[in-house]
Amino acid sequence: SFKEHDAAYFHSYSHVGIHEEMIKDRIRTEAYRDAIFSHADSIRDKVVVDVGCGTGILSIFCAYVGARKVYAVDASDIAVQAKEVVKANGLSDIITVMHGRVEEVQIDEEVDVIVSEWMGYMLLYESMLASVICARDRWLKRGGIMLPSHATLYMAPITNPDRYSESIDFWRSVYGIDMSAMLPLAKQCSFEEPCIESITAENVLSWPIVVKHIDCSRVTIRELETVSADFMISSMMMASLHGFALWFDVAFGTPIIDAQSESSMESTIVKDFGCNGINHRRHGNSSNQIILSTAPEEPPTHWAQTILYIYEPIEVTQDQIISGSISLSQSRENPRFLNIHLEYASGDRYFVKESVMR
Ligand code: SAH
Repeated sequence: SFKEHDAAYFHSYSHVGIHEEMIKDRIRTEAYRDAIFSHADSIRDKVVVDVGCGTGILSIFCAYVGARKVYAVDASDIAVQAKEVVKANGLSDIITVMHGRVEEVQIDEEVDVIVSEWMGYMLLYESMLASVICARDRWLKRGGIMLPSHATLYMAPITNPDRYSESIDFWRSVYGIDMSAMLPLAKQCSFEEPCIESITAENVLSWPIVVKHIDCSRVTIRELETVSADFMISSMMMASLHGFALWFDVAFGTPIIDAQSESSMESTIVKDFGCNGINHRRHGNSSNQIILSTAPEEPPTHWAQTILYIYEPIEVTQDQIISGSISLSQSRENPRFLNIHLEYASGDRYFVKESVMR
């Protein structure tokens, strides 16, 4: 179960650095801020649960748009600081910080909104979504809203010659010495585990496939134990295939913004946060859906992309088919870890790569 491994997990969130990294990730934090502000009409006078409140930042955004009550829950000791931050901002009568696991704390009413920043590397690493589902099933009213409302995990084949030669080809000749004998070890050590690295659109060889689409209002904990997809993609160019990149985006419902809340939102942002408005990718025709994307073609976030490098590059030509399957499952050793099973074939070559994200 999760519980036996949770001490280390929650301890990692008691350090300031991890919160600093998340809050300084402006793509992330501004997407949440803008999503909360653009849902002002659904939050005003309503009851919110912030699952994993950390420093309390999302709860405070909800209080700013007029939430009647916010339950800010975090099992990490960072809850101690969250309580102080809330107090220092004069919001203690609206925001109740609860220091405990969302699975265990007591909230004695139904809620209208659940907000949470639960996404891990490759979306599913850490498996925090299970806790958000638990909160939803314990307290969310019928018709209540989830922020974010949807999440999608993508995968695409990539080429990354610079990265490959820096770690691997380097050993072919070192100070004039043939160190090719190091190659197998270098490949194993560099590429055994998934790498958290930023790539750009130029590295990507095809349109991504959707590995998993999640409707946060409906998804079940069972459904997340194993996530898998088959793929058949054709390379858009001649290149060396070096591996596969995974990334995700999350969407925040479809807010209806009236002129009044739009203008008050802008002025609050400018006044309180010194930012000049909203710079998010908005999606679709007339809707103002806010998307937080960690795709290679978008500005980088602290999630970067997750790269599964393969040990032997495969030379592919334009339109060459790359097929296979990917499966991510919670590890038995620790459900917060992911076992990754990747099969891929192209031309006459076929490989299987197993790895664990710890
Ligand atoms: N909402 C904050 C922090 C997000 S990080 C922000 O946006 O900056 C996720 C937080 O969720 C961590 O502080 C972690 O301790 C907390 N968390 C994860 N699982 C939890 C659970 N089951 N119960 C309570 N808190 C949890």
